[in-house]
Amino acid sequence: MAEIHKNYIGGAWVAGADASDNTNPAKPAEIIGTYAMASAADADKAVAAARQALPEWSNTTPQQRHDLLDSVGNQILGRADEIGKTLAREEGKTLPEAIGETMRAGQVFKFFAGEALRQSGEFIPSVRPNIDIEVSREPVGVVGLITPWNFPIAIPAWKMAPALAWGNCVVLKPASLTPASAHVLVEILDACGCPKGAVNLIMGSGGVLGEAMLANADIDAFSFTGSVATGRHIAAACAAMQTKLQLEMGGKNPLVVMDDADLDIAVAAAVNGAFFSTGQRCTASSRLIVHAPIYDAFVEATRKTIKALKVGNPLDAETQIGPVISPEQLQSNLAYLDIAKKEGIEVIGGAALDHADKGYFQNPGLMLDTKNQMRINREEIFGPLASVIKVGDFDEAVAVANDTEFGLSAGICTKSLSHARQFRKQAQAGMVMVNLPTAGVDYHVAFGGRKGSSFGPREQGRYAAEFYTTLKTSYIQA
Ligand code: NDP
Repeated sequence: MAEIHKNYIGGAWVAGADASDNTNPAKPAEIIGTYAMASAADADKAVAAARQALPEWSNTTPQQRHDLLDSVGNQILGRADEIGKTLAREEGKTLPEAIGETMRAGQVFKFFAGEALRQSGEFIPSVRPNIDIEVSREPVGVVGLITPWNFPIAIPAWKMAPALAWGNCVVLKPASLTPASAHVLVEILDACGCPKGAVNLIMGSGGVLGEAMLANADIDAFSFTGSVATGRHIAAACAAMQTKLQLEMGGKNPLVVMDDADLDIAVAAAVNGAFFSTGQRCTASSRLIVHAPIYDAFVEATRKTIKALKVGNPLDAETQIGPVISPEQLQSNLAYLDIAKKEGIEVIGGAALDHADKGYFQNPGLMLDTKNQMRINREEIFGPLASVIKVGDFDEAVAVANDTEFGLSAGICTKSLSHARQFRKQAQAGMVMVNLPTAGVDYHVAFGGRKGSSFGPREQGRYAAEFYTTLKTSYIQA
């Protein structure tokens, strides 16, 4: 019988109520591994283990927390090729993208190892005599982490590392489609001597485990990345329980291309932002808003570039675009193409690909001359599809860019300092890119969006402290 990769609760590897096969979206007949599925009762045990571990972990010294996170970071970096291969097989991004994501996870742990040493508070004189005030940060407590499939190691890492750096204990529920990367990460934490209960991993259905976590009053805070629908559901449950919350959700990110843009830079930014990682990035450039004078040249150059992109097995060296994550996601992508065609939109590419291995492959697709009001420009598609919208001037470009319920990332390609500056000020987004793809961020600065894309404090960098700590103001009379 195949080995079953177990849940990790209270420092022990424990079987689940059931198990499921983790398959390769490029080769669905290939099983990467069998992973335990935890029950609602297991979720409660994981929360109890985290609660029990909290007094000890939250009282460790910054040096102890630094040392754990640093050695986890080193282990991840040292095994990046091997872990990246597993990640590429379970998620479908290309091997270089998967190794890059794994290295990012390692860098994140090393960054937060440093943050553990940099913790500080404020010492402030009172407005009253003989009183001093100290404002200090304390851990929030037990944090529930619920993560999606599209960055199966980086997102667990960028939630877990700051949580641990500031003395919290965590329960991680990774996406059902991609348990392997999270499992490896927790194996490394265990091997590096993470204290029992400080980190717990429960794998299985969000409907079962997520709901059990949401109903558990012993979780002090939730950090969630995923779809808007699930995020709003979690928000409602957290509001009822007064649980601290951080949500990172979808995007419909605009990339504006002005007529003074360097065409090569603009096309490279659009193609990278829209199609790399199979377009399955919350920061993907899904609306290409193009100034009329450069529209034809941009479309022609983009058409040529995407026709040359190699779609195929993520492990093949020449592959640039891997498969879509699942048959359901592929069907959903194709349904959006049908919607576009029914609205009379010309589509370049986008067809599902027949492949000997029966993987969920799809050519990158570009929908031309679309209107921002169309459904394809309102809803997040989350696949290798982008639409092009023609605009008459800069003001219209900004208005269209901002005319969306989302606000994660927004980009502009221009040589005009004035346009770049105005766009940075006017874009209603958490992140703004100039002459760069909307996707692709650094790990030591704030990550997150506005409007329907995000809720609560930012993730990553030192800003992560806002979510993973709570302030205490102490008054001391001499
Ligand atoms: P989902 O919202 O479907 O799932 C995200 C996580 O929530 C999974 O672990 C899932 O479990 C879990 N979940 C499902 N139902 C519940 C529930 N009732 N209660 C609690 N948890 C639940 O999103 P996807 O995984 O499909 O990810 C794709 C989405 O994530 C896209 O919309 C994308 O834009 C967004 N995303 C946003 C990012 C950002 O930073 N803004 C980054 C990456 C993705 P299970 O897998 O078992 O269903």
